[in-house]
Amino acid sequence: MSYKCIGCGVEIQTTQKAALGYSPKEDAEYCQRCFQIKHYNKASETELESQDYLDVLHNIEASSLVVYIVDVFDFHGSFIHGLNRITSTNDILLVGNKLDLFPKSVNPNKIVHWMRRTAKELGLKVLDAEVISSLKQSRIEGVIEMINEHQRGRNVYVVGCTNVGKSSFINALIAHYTGEENVITTSIFPGTTISTIEIEMNDAYLIDTPGVINQHQVAHYLDQSLKDVTPYKGIKPTVYQVEAKQSFYIGGFARIDYADGPLASFVFYNANRVPIRRTKTSYADEYYKKNKNTLLVPPVETEKQKLGAFTTHKLNIKSNQDLVISGLGFVTINKDVQLILHLPENLKYYIRESIF
Ligand code: GDP
Repeated sequence: MSYKCIGCGVEIQTTQKAALGYSPKEDAEYCQRCFQIKHYNKASETELESQDYLDVLHNIEASSLVVYIVDVFDFHGSFIHGLNRITSTNDILLVGNKLDLFPKSVNPNKIVHWMRRTAKELGLKVLDAEVISSLKQSRIEGVIEMINEHQRGRNVYVVGCTNVGKSSFINALIAHYTGEENVITTSIFPGTTISTIEIEMNDAYLIDTPGVINQHQVAHYLDQSLKDVTPYKGIKPTVYQVEAKQSFYIGGFARIDYADGPLASFVFYNANRVPIRRTKTSYADEYYKKNKNTLLVPPVETEKQKLGAFTTHKLNIKSNQDLVISGLGFVTINKDVQLILHLPENLKYYIRESIF
């Protein structure tokens, strides 16, 4: 008899240590990888090819209902381009996760409208949308109502990029129905869910799929700093009044020079363990050399090498736009400004309509 890991759904095997599903015990509940993530917060080196993930999406049965999860804090960075094309006959419900990272004063309905507009701009047709926090188990009922309304006896597939909180969402659903917490494995490491997991729902199945890897997610380039960069609780924005010719460092990840514009307020939304440092632009290079291993950590040196060399981008940002650095957070500025952004080549930035 073969057993499946209840954390990630992979078949348990006892022969190949480096391969998926390995456990020293044939009848283990969890594979060794999930066991380590659960108990030691440590991920093993197992990686799947991106193509495998895309194959999973292609294999979603026609005319089913797809619950597509994105990270609202990193909407563009966690967006699967061409999802409509990949799953062309399916109806899509868009669910934004990690609402709890935004300040409490933000109206969730405003975020839902913003998500719908942004999805449309990016070419994604959705039937309905909702924003939730899987971690706080808030607004999960809204998603259940949406599924009940649109399911019509069909199977429901849960898709999304790695790390958007797909497993946490399914755990929140299971907790909602059964009161049991943390049945499947969640972690800050990308790509935890390896095979599909099925749960019965309204006489059909809710099927979890592995996350699609997005190479620009900052998580792929970090190990020891990942816990500092991943925001856990509501982000406290930091506000600065800034004149042109001043510069900011977001830890050692990015540098923003305020090249030209009037006195403006810059509001940074990022994990509070990534420090924001301010200096004069004329001194910014020197500042980096002096402080790169002290004040400008994270990332640590080995991670800096993986992130790649800095490249510069000249940007014109309007007062109704946000500058997003994928996976790190965003900055919103109350005036039209010219910026020079210095960013490692493996990180991505986006300019978007302001979320607030
Ligand atoms: P998956 O790869 O999409 O299955 O993502 P996981 O469920 O493993 O979650 C990835 C990371 O995001 C973990 O560190 C979770 O604790 C965190 N996470 C998941 N849901 C939420 C949420 O609603 N809010 C916050 N702040 N973090 C979340």
